[in-house]
Amino acid sequence: MSSYPDTLLLIDNEWREARGNKRIDVVNPATGNKIGQVANASKEDLDLALAAAQRGFETWRDMSAHERCTLMRKAAQLVRERVDSIARLLTQEQGKPLAEARIEVAAGAEIIDWFANEALRVYGRIVPARNPAAQQMVLKEPVGPVAAFTPWNFPVNQIVRKLGAALASGCSFLVKAPEETPASPAALLNCFVDAGLPKGVIGLVFGSPAEISSYLIPHPIIRKVTFTGSTPVGKQLAALAGQHMKRVTMELGGHAPVIVAQDADVELAVKASGGAKFRNAGQVCISPTRFLVHKDVKAAFEQALVKHAESLKLGDGLADGTTLGPLANDRRLVAMDKIVKNASAKGAKVATGGERIGSAGNFFAPTVLTDVPLDADVFNEEPFGPIAAVRSFENLEDAIKEANRLPFGLAAYAFTRSFKNVTELSRRLEVGMVWINQPATPSAELPFGGVKDSGYGSEGGPEALEAYLVTKAVSVVGV
Ligand code: NAD
Repeated sequence: MSSYPDTLLLIDNEWREARGNKRIDVVNPATGNKIGQVANASKEDLDLALAAAQRGFETWRDMSAHERCTLMRKAAQLVRERVDSIARLLTQEQGKPLAEARIEVAAGAEIIDWFANEALRVYGRIVPARNPAAQQMVLKEPVGPVAAFTPWNFPVNQIVRKLGAALASGCSFLVKAPEETPASPAALLNCFVDAGLPKGVIGLVFGSPAEISSYLIPHPIIRKVTFTGSTPVGKQLAALAGQHMKRVTMELGGHAPVIVAQDADVELAVKASGGAKFRNAGQVCISPTRFLVHKDVKAAFEQALVKHAESLKLGDGLADGTTLGPLANDRRLVAMDKIVKNASAKGAKVATGGERIGSAGNFFAPTVLTDVPLDADVFNEEPFGPIAAVRSFENLEDAIKEANRLPFGLAAYAFTRSFKNVTELSRRLEVGMVWINQPATPSAELPFGGVKDSGYGSEGGPEALEAYLVTKAVSVVGV
């Protein structure tokens, strides 16, 4: 048995109970048992956290990029040293297999390191002036204290992309992390406290998501909002931020198409997209969902995908050998059941899975649906679970049209040996990220984000820092 702590709020580098001592229960999704509690912030706590973020910003902004880089790298090193203990917390509260949790935390350290180094490359520029006596400069400055809202599917990684970019840019960072998975985010932020970040530069709160966002977003101290979660909630928060003229990054839902062309390496397609489909039990915004397979390779693809799904070992993420954990909460179980029933009623075949396993814990069998009609819910709404939905196509043009049909535009995958197809797919898929002949490899140095209803802004590459910077033009005439 691994131990699991209660989680407190982080304000001014101190771990504190909420005023009024209100708490929320935390449940292990593999057992359904309560394993701990998290402090539920009141308005008074939020006011303290906001005041700390303002003071933290004033300190952090005025430190040199080299000092910021050094502290961030120290925090990344502590994350690396604590991978195992943070991963164990993550698996207990979120459900994913321990091996996946370790990868998430180790990747978190890499991302922090990448952003730490990028802090040294926030350059302005000199612009030739029309008046020879003048010097014109463009300065890049941190936008100010950031309010971040992160979800439960990657409790560590959803924070580090935002935190890394914000700190590298010179912003302070107040995050409302997920109440369902609070302990791994707290352990992550504790690495920054232990690394010696000045007080107030980072803060962590939990509570009622709607109450906290409706208080923080309009608050004059907050200058930038960043959210990862569902499209409907993202639209509400973006509208609120718009009313208060706050900078916004939105990383929202997706519905990734996987196009398997006639000339694809089918074995590779199944290995790469099948692995990606069932990672984190499909609770991934870039999870492959609509499998569009050329009619000539459909039978071989489906057979191999079913075999892959049936080879997965469902179980408690802490148990040896588990390759597929439970769903993170019981809302997802209800959603999976509805999706399968809806697809079956519309004529799809359940090639494997399709039902809950056992009665304790949120286990749902890895599922492959075939011959799925276009009007089935699974082909239109984000399933966010271990369900692959397959349809065939006759020519690539139709597959591209189908890929672009939905309002989502986050990720897409394609498998083909033809350079012409690769060029066509890269150009015409209306998404923020395309992976061809490979699984997703969202590294820190590549932009990460969507278009259309999947949001705007990027959480990777130099573009990620741009989102936390403002541009100032300074023109000087020497006298
Ligand atoms: P949800 O839409 O209620 O919540 C999604 C996330 O947004 C959660 O972390 C939640 O705490 C937060 N949230 C909800 N209302 C909020 C508000 N008013 N202010 C601030 N934060 C708020 O749904 P859910 O049941 O938790 O998740 C289901 C759906 O959310 C999934 O189907 C998926 O589409 C989406 N989701 C997406 C991601 C992602 O990585 N893009 C992650 C988690 C969930």
